[in-house]
Amino acid sequence: MAKDIYVFVECKDGTIRKASLELLSKARELTEKTFSNVYAVAVGFGMNEIAEDLKFFADKVIIVDNQDLKDYRWDTYRGVLEYIIKKYNPFMVFGVATATGKDLFPRLAARLNTAIIADAIGIEYEGEEIKVRKPFFGGKILSWMAFRHGIAPVITFRPNSFAIEKRQTGGEIVEETVEIKKDPRLTTLKLNKGSNHKVDLQEADFIICGGRGMKGSEHFRILEEIAYIMNGRVGASRAVVDSKWREYDDQVGKSGKTVAPKVYIGCGISGALHHTMGMDTSKTIVAINKDPNAPIFQYADYGIVDDLFAILPALKEELKKTKEEN
Ligand SMILES: Cc1cc2nc3c(=O)[nH]c(=O)nc-3n(C[C@H](O)[C@H](O)[C@H](O)COP(=O)(O)OP(=O)(O)OC[C@H]3O[C@@H](n4cnc5c(N)ncnc54)[C@H](O)[C@@H]3O)c2cc1C
Repeated sequence: MAKDIYVFVECKDGTIRKASLELLSKARELTEKTFSNVYAVAVGFGMNEIAEDLKFFADKVIIVDNQDLKDYRWDTYRGVLEYIIKKYNPFMVFGVATATGKDLFPRLAARLNTAIIADAIGIEYEGEEIKVRKPFFGGKILSWMAFRHGIAPVITFRPNSFAIEKRQTGGEIVEETVEIKKDPRLTTLKLNKGSNHKVDLQEADFIICGGRGMKGSEHFRILEEIAYIMNGRVGASRAVVDSKWREYDDQVGKSGKTVAPKVYIGCGISGALHHTMGMDTSKTIVAINKDPNAPIFQYADYGIVDDLFAILPALKEELKKTKEEN
């Protein structure tokens, strides 16, 4: 039996999210073992260029291009994916655990009456069994989960979980026409677009995050400067967002975004569980805190016990120098 994996491709402002390319690359690695195919499923409006780009990441690219799919709505997107999955009957469905993914995939899994593992960070095949790696309790427990049975189980993965690998040859593009059904109970009143940051917080390789220890919004300037040098993003704890020093878009944690950059630097952040559950799978964690007993140090690969206002200017200069030298 073919073990084809279907990856729902998320796009933002006409470009493919990096995290979707990660999933396509991982799906390819898995399907190569079972001589199966990777399908990229892209839904939206004006999808030609996106389809061309996706060709180099999938065996088949299924495009559903319709003006009614220009902006994400769970009812229309769910309807389209449900149609595709029922028509093609994939072995597994992958999606990204972004805000859209968190909204869409549980609804889709419920509709398909199948199982879902959300917010995973890894996947392996062991014989016939699929094993999915998922953190619990703010990363204190890392579990392996398996599906007992089910048709086309759905798995959402955190961004930055896998490496991206482009293929040499392009796959085939298939355009599907699907009837778009809008739920009559839903009306879009207004779309509030997120910030215009160059780098998406969830896809950033480098995040420097400020907490209450930053003492005020004006001190975030140095974090912006460091993020700029590193082509990364500034994040914030909820205490900071609640104090209106930063926008909600920057919030990392349980009620904010889950991030997994290559490097996370926490500045003046205590490391409350609600925060760490949003960043504990970062590859390298650095914490700057003047309190040696701050819980963040339990998660840190490198800890600096000092006043952040003494450390940050020196850090900025060092990073700048290193960048210039390379
Ligand atoms: C339902 C719920 C959901 C939540 N969701 C989130 C969430 O998504 N994200 C989130 O972040 N929080 C969330 N929280 C809040 C969370 O529990 C903490 O209250 C919050 O993370 C604390 O933010 P902080 O670390 O910036 O502040 P604090 O806990 O006040 O820590 C400030 C730290 O700065 C250090 N410091 C002070 N001055 C300096 C200095 N000059 N140099 C170095 N260090 C210094 C202090 O030693 C201290 O450790 C949530 C809470 C609840 C109840």
